Amino acid sequence: MSLMRRDSTMGRDRLAQTRIALILESEGLGLEIGYHGHSCVQLTHGGHSLIIDPFISGNGLAVTRPEEIKVDYVLLTHGHTDHTLDAVPIAKNNDATIVAIHELATYMSWQGAKALGMNLGGKVSLGFAEVQMIQAFHSSSVIVDNEGQIIYAGMPAGFIIKWDGMTLLHSGDTALFSDMKMIGERNRIDLAFLPIGDLFTMGPEDAVTAAEWFGAKKVVPLHFNTFPPIAQDGEQFISKLAEKGIGGRSLSPGEKMTL
Ligand SMILES: [Zn+2]
Repeated sequence: MSLMRRDSTMGRDRLAQTRIALILESEGLGLEIGYHGHSCVQLTHGGHSLIIDPFISGNGLAVTRPEEIKVDYVLLTHGHTDHTLDAVPIAKNNDATIVAIHELATYMSWQGAKALGMNLGGKVSLGFAEVQMIQAFHSSSVIVDNEGQIIYAGMPAGFIIKWDGMTLLHSGDTALFSDMKMIGERNRIDLAFLPIGDLFTMGPEDAVTAAEWFGAKKVVPLHFNTFPPIAQDGEQFISKLAEKGIGGRSLSPGEKMTL
């Protein structure tokens, strides 16, 4: 009888512990991640929100409309249209500031948006979060098709975002590079957004190595399936990560998750 009682108490304790673990796992600190397709993610927490690389109106897979986006800041990793298309309208609608590398920020300010320029290695406080600009290996320009012009838009970049004890990394469009290890040594990355589309950026195999080098606990893949040349299997990428002990989730446009 007493043995049985002890067993059932232990069972209840275990159940309670499991329940607490599940709550912590599912709720975390409550930072909401919204995926708008391609490389566009929106982070929302504590009454504030920022969006990175808004390319929504030109993305046939997107389910959101740029007019619906409510944010305090718009972060841009580089000047290519598939990362910047809706930046100015979203910034203007929300009286939000565009944060980008100096040249691109200047270009955005010429389009009538509020803009804050920074450069690689620099940090800026947004009040509710701290953003550091990190390097990316890619190219960056604004291509003015009808004038046959390519405007220099500064270096391409990624961002490390520290927000209420959580650290997120958006690598921007990039190849694999060995200083990802150095960035991983100096930061505890809770979640990394990494491109997996290949052709213009890392493919899935290099992105798994990037996740390891960044020391990311979780990864959300970006920059794939938007156009046929960058078709990839997001779920297969997640299982390759799992083989290395790294968590992750492949989101569909319009889907949300909580960190
Ligand atoms: Zn690009």
